[in-house]
Amino acid sequence: MLKVEGLERSYATPDGLVQAVKGVSFEIPSGSFYTLLGPSGCGKTTTLRCVAGLEQPTAGRITIDGTVVAQPDEDIFVPAYKRDIGMVFQSYAIWPHMNVLENVSYPLVVRKPRPPRDEIKDRAMEALRLVGMDALANRSATKLSGGQQQRVAFARAIVRNPKILLLDEPLSNLDAKLREQMRYELQELVARVAITTLYVTHDQSEALAMSDTIAVISEGLISQAGPPRAVYDRPANEFVAGFLGGANFLTATVTEDDGNNGLAVFDGGAGSVRVALPAGIHTGDRVNIVFRPEDAALHFAANGTGNQVHASISRLSFQGGLTECHLKVGATLVRSMLHPSVEAKVGTEAWIDLNPARCTVYPARETSRL
Ligand code: ATP
Repeated sequence: MLKVEGLERSYATPDGLVQAVKGVSFEIPSGSFYTLLGPSGCGKTTTLRCVAGLEQPTAGRITIDGTVVAQPDEDIFVPAYKRDIGMVFQSYAIWPHMNVLENVSYPLVVRKPRPPRDEIKDRAMEALRLVGMDALANRSATKLSGGQQQRVAFARAIVRNPKILLLDEPLSNLDAKLREQMRYELQELVARVAITTLYVTHDQSEALAMSDTIAVISEGLISQAGPPRAVYDRPANEFVAGFLGGANFLTATVTEDDGNNGLAVFDGGAGSVRVALPAGIHTGDRVNIVFRPEDAALHFAANGTGNQVHASISRLSFQGGLTECHLKVGATLVRSMLHPSVEAKVGTEAWIDLNPARCTVYPARETSRL
């Protein structure tokens, strides 16, 4: 449905050329939910704006439903209003001088040729019913809560039945509780209308919960793309491991290897783990062992398996269902999640049990890229 190939976008600024997008390629099948996830300034909004037709790419090609809508080397640029897309932004851009129904009707009112008045009303009411806002159709747009405005913006985006829905951080203006609720609502709505969706966010939990595919972007390039679980479980590099899920990193030296597996001994003699080695890593190499906080089980005695790290508890943060535990391994901070029933005290020595199957090994040089 949407194909982006070798997309580039640069801007001339007084400080020189800024390359916001450096060659992004991806494809979204019809009806699929695709998320661009990355830190501030990585180029995700610029990518979305190029798809929307609000920015002209510097290079590459964008195809929507088989039609090329942007390709600078062929001088092709179809403007936004001719692309058949719906959009919702961070600021919902609900028009304050119109009521709810007028806001949602607007994309049909400006359509050429304009549909009959009754049809416009029926379709707008249908879109409002979908988002559960039909009872407030006559309410002034200024008298809506944040969540209601978000629903109206969504209804307005889908009222024309567009081919693609573009969502740029649509939940980030909501408070934490509403944000979580709207996350599920939005996911259900998108599934109900079965619309191809491109979603932009810097929030990893949103991306994990909502997407069919996540593309993690760093510095204008896709670092890794795949289903949420695959990207989370098998991050392709340390940037992805760190950005998606706040992984722990410990440096170690490989002291034995049999070609596939090796013994990695942590710096400062803090412990070791026997792990699968990636190609090209051998005895004597420096590596980073990466593991998730939920895979760092805490114990208060050595277990004799050799897959352990010695640490001391530096901070405990009660979070209701879980307690987040910060530990020091030498000078390195490691996070673990504890069930609140586990009694732990700041300053106590502890052992982190590592599950080798849940550890990923990277050459230590990659740390410099973080
Ligand atoms: P955020 O989450 O903060 O919006 P982002 O990942 O969406 O970040 P972009 O808005 O795409 O990032 O910006 C990518 C880079 O391009 C940034 O360095 C930004 O400063 C630069 N940039 C974006 N728009 C322009 C512009 N119109 N002129 C100059 N530089 C720009």
